[in-house]
Amino acid sequence: MTGVEVVHSDLDRVLVPAHEIEAKVAELGRRISQDYAGIRQLLAVGVLKGSAVFMADLVRVISVPVSFDFMAVASYGQLSSSSGVVRILKDLDQTIEDQHVLLVEDIVDTGLTLNYLLETLRTRNPASLRVCVLLDKPSRRKIEVPVDYLGFVIPDEFVVGYGLDYNEFYRNLPDVWVLKPAVYQKK
Ligand code: 5GP
Repeated sequence: MTGVEVVHSDLDRVLVPAHEIEAKVAELGRRISQDYAGIRQLLAVGVLKGSAVFMADLVRVISVPVSFDFMAVASYGQLSSSSGVVRILKDLDQTIEDQHVLLVEDIVDTGLTLNYLLETLRTRNPASLRVCVLLDKPSRRKIEVPVDYLGFVIPDEFVVGYGLDYNEFYRNLPDVWVLKPAVYQKK
């Protein structure tokens, strides 16, 4: 058995195949480009590390002038669930005052991380603030968060791939996979 097969034995099944992600990202890019048509500049803000792959694809299908920046946050809590208490590990390199900001997230689960980030960014007086999320697990929501652009609603399963990790692995997979529950329940 090769090393790759051993690692992939943690994975259950493909939930969202790469070709569906590609089509959805193109659709999101078209909608965002239409909605922001005529603006001078859009600032896409990604949340590291999960949104890095999504961000890379998304900005390449946005036709209005766009720049991007990243924040990194850590949630005080268990590996696979959010505690809602968020610490900023890396802040934006620039101010966002009077800028049109699009927050780009990989997944919204309880909503606590996104809620914290939105509250933080709002205090910095952007001209506008919208949210683009690739995956939504609504069944686990603890707090309502506004999502303006959504890729896929998914069931309550732990997913990896297309930027999403388990213990820092699997971010490079082109498809979104379900991790075998036995893998993270061992923790
Ligand atoms: P929330 O604060 O909405 O509960 O969680 C958001 C964060 O939890 C995401 O940005 C992500 O880092 C992590 N997360 C939630 N669900 C999953 C999942 O199914 N897979 C992975 N890899 N991370 C998840």
